[in-house]
Amino acid sequence: MTPVTETLPATGAAAAQAGGAAPQSAAVTVEIFEVGGGLAAEVRAASGASPMACYQCTKCSSGCPVAARADLMPHELVRLVQTGQRGSALGNRFIWECTSCHTCVTRCPQQVDIPAMNDALREIGRREGVAAKGTAVPVFNEIFLETVRKRGRIHEISLMASFKLRTRRLLDDMDKAPAMFSKGKLPLLGERVGEKAKREQIFRKAVAAAAAQAGDAKGTSGQQGGSR
Ligand code: SF4
Ligand code: SF4
Repeated sequence: MTPVTETLPATGAAAAQAGGAAPQSAAVTVEIFEVGGGLAAEVRAASGASPMACYQCTKCSSGCPVAARADLMPHELVRLVQTGQRGSALGNRFIWECTSCHTCVTRCPQQVDIPAMNDALREIGRREGVAAKGTAVPVFNEIFLETVRKRGRIHEISLMASFKLRTRRLLDDMDKAPAMFSKGKLPLLGERVGEKAKREQIFRKAVAAAAAQAGDAKGTSGQQGGSR
């Protein structure tokens, strides 16, 4: 089994960079043996996050505002990635419900960027057609982007109608509609802004960039032949 090397940051390095206390320990380079598939390497190539640096102290989970109602805690997700449990790491709802608040990153002694890791896992999951059970966030994201692509901005009523039809949550939150109408939060006629051709160009560029990044990530994980 061939090990890969990983440089673990100095403890307190982030604080020192910000002009605070000096590092409590120097950076060290360790050898890590492959466990499971190349998922950790793919995540690292796609996001720069370094799941293999995690030593499971659970500080991320104790500060995460989403962990209490999610199906996984942040440190558990990192462990799934470390051990290459692809189905569980891609098919959970936690990766979609993470709010990218960065609380975990600021608490982590190893500076593991869990929100960046979650972004990478979402992209890999979508590419591989892995459905996340028990969450409507991927559907909401799709409809949101479709609306922006079409109009250049959000039209709340059409967004809500599409979301309700696609998720079959027809009556959810309907009690809030009268107050929102009366306060002008749900305009019947939405605006269109900007030029359609420019919007299309932006979306095409974003799709091409995502495809290129996916190709790079696969190439990197193939070259490394192991998780990192
Ligand atoms: S805080 Fe960092 S090192 Fe600790 S469990 Fe979370 S990701 Fe791992
Ligand atoms: S960024 Fe995501 S995983 Fe980290 S604390 Fe916030 S919600 Fe939790």
